[in-house]
Amino acid sequence: MQRSLIKHCRNCGTAVVYRVPDDGDTRERAVCPACNTIHYENPLNVVGTVPVWGDQVLLCKRNIEPRWGKWTLPAGFMELNETTAQGAERETDEEAGAHIAMGPLFAVLNVRRVGQVHLFYRATLLSDQFNPGTETIEARLFTEAEVPWEDIAFRTVKETLEHYFADRRAGRFVLHTLDIV
Ligand SMILES: [Zn+2]
Repeated sequence: MQRSLIKHCRNCGTAVVYRVPDDGDTRERAVCPACNTIHYENPLNVVGTVPVWGDQVLLCKRNIEPRWGKWTLPAGFMELNETTAQGAERETDEEAGAHIAMGPLFAVLNVRRVGQVHLFYRATLLSDQFNPGTETIEARLFTEAEVPWEDIAFRTVKETLEHYFADRRAGRFVLHTLDIV
């Protein structure tokens, strides 16, 4: 899921070239040869939750690519003009139609290869009735023993779930900072 490179200048539409700018920068950037605009590309935030109902965790079966038919925690790209927690709550509503009480930040995962930072919050479900959106085939609760580990859509979700269950067994939750390589 490497992001595609910038092809055209967002300012004037001219085809950009990738080069190190002359301003002391040390990285190649998409530079417009016509208007000299430099287009900076930076990591995107993916925000989501670990929604819990008793000893069960809510997972969503994906109705979109990539990883169609695989299971994930509710999560998606953060939007402008919202906080990370608001984005995580919004994604949980959009993907699962789940009503939650937001808890503390639980995992920060750097996915350097694709230029993303994933943030997962713990959350308590207020109901076990779900109303999945169009991006989700099915939303259902799993005990730890029932989790379909071989069919988890993303490494970040698998690691977050593993740490969640490990912390629960240990009887204390801490913030996990992980680098996915
Ligand atoms: Zn331009």
